[in-house]
Amino acid sequence: MPSSWNDDDALQFCHRSRAHGEALALRVYTSRLLGREPALVLHGGGNTSVKTTARDLFGRELEVLHVKGSGSDLAEVEPSGLPAVRLDVLRELRALPSLSDRDMVSAVRSALLDSRAPNPSVETLLHAFLPHAYVDHTHAEAILVLTDQPDPLVHVQAALGDDVVVLPWIMPGFPLAKAVADAFERAPHCRGIVLAKHGLFTFGRTARESYE
Ligand code: ZN
Repeated sequence: MPSSWNDDDALQFCHRSRAHGEALALRVYTSRLLGREPALVLHGGGNTSVKTTARDLFGRELEVLHVKGSGSDLAEVEPSGLPAVRLDVLRELRALPSLSDRDMVSAVRSALLDSRAPNPSVETLLHAFLPHAYVDHTHAEAILVLTDQPDPLVHVQAALGDDVVVLPWIMPGFPLAKAVADAFERAPHCRGIVLAKHGLFTFGRTARESYE
């Protein structure tokens, strides 16, 4: 699949969203590139994030995760569709032995900087636990074709090479977020993580690297 990245368009997004900062502007730009490709995001699926900083009411700098919120389509997402959540609160949750979906949603919602923001994606912790500035997640059709088979590892490695981690299907939520973070730490030079019967996680220091 060819890359749709275009330097002029990226620059235009940076100008248009100047008030939100370049990191978030480029996050919006590449989120839309993913969202406009139906083979990547069936039925509006997929979510994206960027780690950056914000200031609290006292002017203190905070590390935040801007992650896709529910109710917006990646193809048309605006900066407001990627609400900011305090990263320290999210990262701390990884130490818990277990976390119900209900407690997870509540903990994530309570770490929002704006109480009126939409609920962050159910895959928020997965984005938070990975160390990269940019994380892209799609439910790409090609990944489903490769992994909806008896031996997904063989098919994925034949198509994408052996520098891609393949995990079995795991229920989305806290267990999946921990499993992906653990898998990345075991293979820190991998290019991406494939979740069998689910989709693909890619990441990078820049919006372009993660997207491509
Ligand atoms: Zn997913």
